Amino acid sequence: MKNVAVIGSGTMGNGIAHVFAQMTYKVTLIDISEDALRKALSTIEKNLDRQLAKELISAEVKQATIQNITTSTDLRSGVANADLVVEAATENADLKLKIFKDLDEAAPPNAILASNTSSISITKIASVTKRADKVIGMHFMNPVPVMKLVEVIRGYSTSDKTTEAIMHASKALGKIPVEVNDYPGFIANRILMPMINEAIYSLYEGVAGVEEIDTVMKLGMAHPMGPLQLADFIGLDVCLSILKVLHDGFGNPKYAPCPLLVNMVQAGHKGVKSGAGFYTYTAGSKDLVVAAQFTKR
Ligand code: NAD
Repeated sequence: MKNVAVIGSGTMGNGIAHVFAQMTYKVTLIDISEDALRKALSTIEKNLDRQLAKELISAEVKQATIQNITTSTDLRSGVANADLVVEAATENADLKLKIFKDLDEAAPPNAILASNTSSISITKIASVTKRADKVIGMHFMNPVPVMKLVEVIRGYSTSDKTTEAIMHASKALGKIPVEVNDYPGFIANRILMPMINEAIYSLYEGVAGVEEIDTVMKLGMAHPMGPLQLADFIGLDVCLSILKVLHDGFGNPKYAPCPLLVNMVQAGHKGVKSGAGFYTYTAGSKDLVVAAQFTKR
């Protein structure tokens, strides 16, 4: 595989483009928004600068990585030469089904179509294509250039050949792939999201404040960040979508999203990407400040 197309240039898409381009793949980064593509290129450059400052890469690798990435707002022409497409568009089932239908028509017949979805069924996504054997989940973790894990999800009809190719490509990126089967939330989010939801319920029910909940989980469980900060980092809209998939998929009330999470997403408080969630985020500042709504007891 040489040519990779990445669909969606948000939080995850720019990181996925970065790691493939750094490992000498030719990457076409595709988004419906020119502005998102501009921001993605600037984020990639900043992250490469950070790697350079830590002497993890050379100036030549930084330059080559940037040169390996082209951008496009046209999905069809953008995937025309792809050996592998990694879709990382917004977590919405209807949107992904539409994208995969288009990809099936526009990408070369042998291309593997992977989704970075956090929770949507790979089997369902594959069902809208005529190449279900070549559709697979390639679930990177955030931030992609740093995190080692790739959860590789086999849909009902995914072939051994496709799975082997994606396990191999993940290793070529310096990642550690883990193969799992296609059930709601796979492994990562089936276990992570109920924990985040329970942290939000604890806040909602007044058991403790934002800082207290995160401190207990950081110091008590040796987690690098608390569940509320992690939810902000993932995106509260993404967390809500994943919980809805778990709730619908298993039909079990234990996955019902906390009403506070629903309210926050409806109010546009989506975490880091919107500047406010459980904490507030100011560009250029690393201070973690609890959002005003949660400072009153
Ligand atoms: P995001 O909201 O940051 O970015 C989504 C991007 O998709 C936006 O730039 C948007 O313009 C673009 N987009 C929407 N419709 C499109 C279309 N039709 N064609 C091309 N681009 C389109 O979202 P994100 O957090 O990067 O999540 C992307 C995917 O990765 C989701 O499936 C999510 O579940 C998954 N994921 C997210 C995380 C995380 O921590 N945020 C972790 C692992 C996996």
